[in-house]
Amino acid sequence: MTIQNVKSFAAGHWVEADAAARDIRSAVNGQVIARAGNSALDTEAMLHFARNKGGPALRAMTFHQRAKMLKALALHLGKHKQPLYDISFATGATQKDNLIDIDGGIGTMFVFASKGRREMPDSQVYIDGNVEQLSRHGTFLGQHICTSMHGVAVHINAFNFPVWGMLEKLAPTLLAGVPAIVKPATASCYVTEMAVQILLDSGILPEGALQLVSGGLGDMLDRLTNQDVVSFTGSADTALMLRSAPHILKNSIRFVAEQDSLNGSILGPDAQPGTPEFDLFIKEVSREMTTKAGQKCTAIRRIFAPEALVQPVIEALGTSLAKVTIGDPAAETTRMGALVSAGQKADVLEKAAIIGQEAERVIGDPNNFSVQGADSEAGAFVPPMLFHCANPDKAKRIHDVEAFGPVSTIMPYRDLDHAVSLLNRGEGSLVASVITHDPDVARQVALGAGAFHGRLYFNNRDSMRESTGHGSPLPHMVHGGPGRAGGGEEMGGVRGVMHYMQRTAIQGSPDILSAIGQKWVPGAKEISEEDHPFTRTFHQLSIGETFKTPSREIHLEDIEKFAHFTGDKFYAHMDQAAAERNPFFPGRVAHGYLLLSFAAGLFVQPDEGPVLANTGLDSLRFMKPVEAGESIKVRLTVKHKTPRNEDYGEVRWHVTITNQDDELVAEYELLTMNAYEHRETQA
Ligand code: NAP
Repeated sequence: MTIQNVKSFAAGHWVEADAAARDIRSAVNGQVIARAGNSALDTEAMLHFARNKGGPALRAMTFHQRAKMLKALALHLGKHKQPLYDISFATGATQKDNLIDIDGGIGTMFVFASKGRREMPDSQVYIDGNVEQLSRHGTFLGQHICTSMHGVAVHINAFNFPVWGMLEKLAPTLLAGVPAIVKPATASCYVTEMAVQILLDSGILPEGALQLVSGGLGDMLDRLTNQDVVSFTGSADTALMLRSAPHILKNSIRFVAEQDSLNGSILGPDAQPGTPEFDLFIKEVSREMTTKAGQKCTAIRRIFAPEALVQPVIEALGTSLAKVTIGDPAAETTRMGALVSAGQKADVLEKAAIIGQEAERVIGDPNNFSVQGADSEAGAFVPPMLFHCANPDKAKRIHDVEAFGPVSTIMPYRDLDHAVSLLNRGEGSLVASVITHDPDVARQVALGAGAFHGRLYFNNRDSMRESTGHGSPLPHMVHGGPGRAGGGEEMGGVRGVMHYMQRTAIQGSPDILSAIGQKWVPGAKEISEEDHPFTRTFHQLSIGETFKTPSREIHLEDIEKFAHFTGDKFYAHMDQAAAERNPFFPGRVAHGYLLLSFAAGLFVQPDEGPVLANTGLDSLRFMKPVEAGESIKVRLTVKHKTPRNEDYGEVRWHVTITNQDDELVAEYELLTMNAYEHRETQA
């Protein structure tokens, strides 16, 4: 059998493993299958390549261009994923595990591609929050912006998800406009190497955007600067060692840590045997224990059940776990494969023994279990093991020892407060779940345990068919947790992109803020054009272009007609005396929606033209009522433009309606879709 030489990709070249490389063994049969590591890797050249080639190329792109690039990469990986499946079995992963790792990773990239297009501007500056009024007359304003860091993101990943683990960090990093150097855990780096090769072969990435270190990182971390970010996933011990290095501390180098975690799951007091929630709980726990052979940072390590339900839960889990066939990960009938290595198996058994000092093993015997289609001695197989701790208040190690395999401990709770206090003894975790149909139980846990967990997952009969599972971090939602879990955060949509950008407070005049953010702010220069703005295409419209309408008087007849036509005969529009008794109105006033409709009548250009549709209205506020006899006029300013597809883009207009005394009656943002090209009109 040939032994794979796992390469690194450094400064534009593939670099072979050298004599100092480490052996990597198959999880399934223990044979050496690959070697990785190069002691002469030129880390300075790699950093230089990323900072001077990849960074500038990525920063020159807009968020939308980067998002399109992510989508293309995800599509390309999707087309070439079969060899990734094939090679992954050697890590001990079953095909179901591979779907989580490979398809889950690709899916994550798609979500970031879509979020980049939908939630970020087509520019290089991301605006964070609203304009802050810093002066009385509005000539000096404040705004927060985020721009790409000028360094490189070094991603140090855990062994358990060699593809997802890379992509869930790479997608937000590239979207932020920052190049990445990926260092997968050595045990499964041959899978990551293949994925990186596929990504690079696509030709989609700019040069320098992605490099790979297979094996040790050498002195790379000592060469980082304040513009670089380390994004680490792995054990708490390694995180502590790396993040406390004097060079990292001295230069305030960002260090995002995702560590191990003693995640818990509570069976709600209402979830008695016979309820859908009880069955759901058993299903979730046994799935979390066995998926990826329990080598998931989010796996359920501690199980909390009402005292009277501990035995029924153990029995039901016993029945469920007995059905889990363990063996050759590539076999279709296998439900649980092997741990990643013999070393990992030894570690899990050692940790299980520590847990065993405080709890009794009630399910699974590592010395007596059957393995199908593989050698149980040569491969890193262990059975699912459930421990029962009768006195969790006195125990300590069950709350702080993570056996990174199919190992969990069940413990009783007296009441919900007790359950919450036990749950929080994990000292910070990635996720906690509660299976309950009682919203009060959910609220009590959220208030009591929210601060200790990065994610709270509630499930019951109403959500179970569509729920995504306790253990699945989703790209839309934050992944990370306080304390023991590392104190970091990843993903969570656009939030995850911000880890690779710097937030800067900008202060200045409205024109300055508009120019920097490419978004008109009130008070900034207005541009007036001869043509009606609705006759102008998306690209012809400039930020700040303003259109002012003539005014229109409101008559009592209009108000009555509108009331009868729409059915809105609210007394403030119809009954003078009643309206006068209302603290908001001087007397009968026009409907706000009538004013909006008249506003549209004042600014719309009726002919077929580049405006394709009015797709919405944001931040509407009615400031001052309008009585019959008063008049209104409208001002429309192009605030922001966002391309949507190949044919048209969204124009966000700032709209004000004012009365005859120039007092603000209403303010809102109007959204239109505008074509890029003038459309042929029917002659
Ligand atoms: P690990 O031993 O801490 O290793 C994590 C990463 O750090 C690997 O890439 C490892 O590379 C690297 N590393 C170790 N020493 C280093 C050094 N001196 N300089 C630079 N890099 C170094 O963890 P693991 O065994 O791979 O993963 C299992 C652990 O990760 C579990 O505790 C699990 O809970 C945690 N985890 C957490 C998350 C999360 O999102 N929070 C996700 C997955 C796993 P080598 O392999 O080359 O040593």
